[in-house]
Amino acid sequence: MYVIDPPKQSSLAVQGTSDRFPVRRVFCVGRNYEAHVLEMGNDMRDPPFFFTKPADAVCDTPCTVPYPPLTEDFHFEVELVIAIGKGGADIDEADVMDHVWGASAGIDLTRRDLQAEAKKMGRPWDWAKAFDNSAPIAPIRPIADAASVEHGRIWLAVNGELKQDADLADMIWAVREHIAALSRGVTLAAGDIIMTGTPAGVAAVVPGDVLTGGVDGIAEFEVSIGPRV
Ligand code: MN
Repeated sequence: MYVIDPPKQSSLAVQGTSDRFPVRRVFCVGRNYEAHVLEMGNDMRDPPFFFTKPADAVCDTPCTVPYPPLTEDFHFEVELVIAIGKGGADIDEADVMDHVWGASAGIDLTRRDLQAEAKKMGRPWDWAKAFDNSAPIAPIRPIADAASVEHGRIWLAVNGELKQDADLADMIWAVREHIAALSRGVTLAAGDIIMTGTPAGVAAVVPGDVLTGGVDGIAEFEVSIGPRV
């Protein structure tokens, strides 16, 4: 027995079924596309690094995400999303896809002004990245039915105007490489989600904006920005 009601299992929709994918943890890859690394003023030769969002930061699309508190610079980052179906540690790059259940497209929503302050002060990124509704993710496509996660168009538009337009092949660390690296730092488990980094073109949004985007052959989303909380 629990002394309070246990938290609800966080989950995401799955394409073509009413069944859902239970979410355990959300890992995010930092600085994984050259042009975005350069636009943020960083060095692209750095090895992959990771940060996290809480499992209940995910939300199904289409959805409306309220404009969050504490920011005046609320950014989108379109990302390929990988859903882990089989856990493991020290996974070989060649075996990574055996652990992948599905793929999707989502947005790593970011309070950019808080991230800039955290970087400057040497503080954690959590306040910039790990807030409520910070990971809207389209319904997950089972990997057997999905296009390649190694190449293919990834894009995002705001109110119909294209802002991010790149190819998964532009990743500095491919899916097999960064998931193998992640599994050397933690034991991956079924239900883990990996947001795999964003290409160039990130920018701020305001209440009323409508974000559309996706990864060709995998998933597409629509996310509206709601009023300030
Ligand atoms: Mn990101």
